[in-house]
Amino acid sequence: MTIPALGGALALTALNPREWNAETCAEVNARLESASASHIADWAVATFGQRIGIACSMQDTILPHLFGTRLEGVDVLFLETGYHFTETVDTRDEVARRFPVTIVDVRPELSVEEQDAQYGKDLFARDPNLCCQMRKVDPLAQALSGYQAWVTGARRVDSVTRSEMPVVSWDAKHGLVKINPLALWDDADVEKYQVQNDLPRNPLVAQGFLSIGCAPCTRKVAPGEDARAGRWAGQGKTECGIHVG
Ligand code: SF4
Repeated sequence: MTIPALGGALALTALNPREWNAETCAEVNARLESASASHIADWAVATFGQRIGIACSMQDTILPHLFGTRLEGVDVLFLETGYHFTETVDTRDEVARRFPVTIVDVRPELSVEEQDAQYGKDLFARDPNLCCQMRKVDPLAQALSGYQAWVTGARRVDSVTRSEMPVVSWDAKHGLVKINPLALWDDADVEKYQVQNDLPRNPLVAQGFLSIGCAPCTRKVAPGEDARAGRWAGQGKTECGIHVG
């Protein structure tokens, strides 16, 4: 595949191979890896249009803004596990009010009450892998079946397991292209974008919750601790499974 230099909209789409797979995604990644998040978003929108799903945990609201300002009505997928902090749900509702995006609540097959009845109360405390599988991993896989690409806010600085994460890759598990436009961002980049664009914020971040998931499995982190140290603390688990190939 010959990839032309980056440029306008035509050059952005000309970046694309005839077929998406691990090899062609790696070639595109090599060209986009040092591009700005705005340029990566421009490319993603020019390439996939509405066939793209934006995953957002509502820890911050950068991706809904980055893509909503480029593609009106774009789907923003929120994993509505039934266990979120009120502040996170409020942030989702604020995004729906302020940005021209379509919030898609991706729900598990079982409500919390039905899961309690079938598996016992507070499964997250006994078997968080099974709980995440049923409330996050499986529902997301089903939701992604309708798209050609998905976007996440994962960053290399999040944890050592993400330290070499590409910007564009083939997601073999879901059978579509995975795009991480913020992969190279650090905390200062996040703050700068939020200030420049006056974005709504999840108030938990200012309280010390530097990586926010479901309330029962998230705690504040101490100064100097890894941001994700507050996720499933003491349970030997660092990822819910949606970013594991
Ligand atoms: S983060 Fe905790 S409550 Fe949420 S799905 Fe995973 S185990 Fe269940």
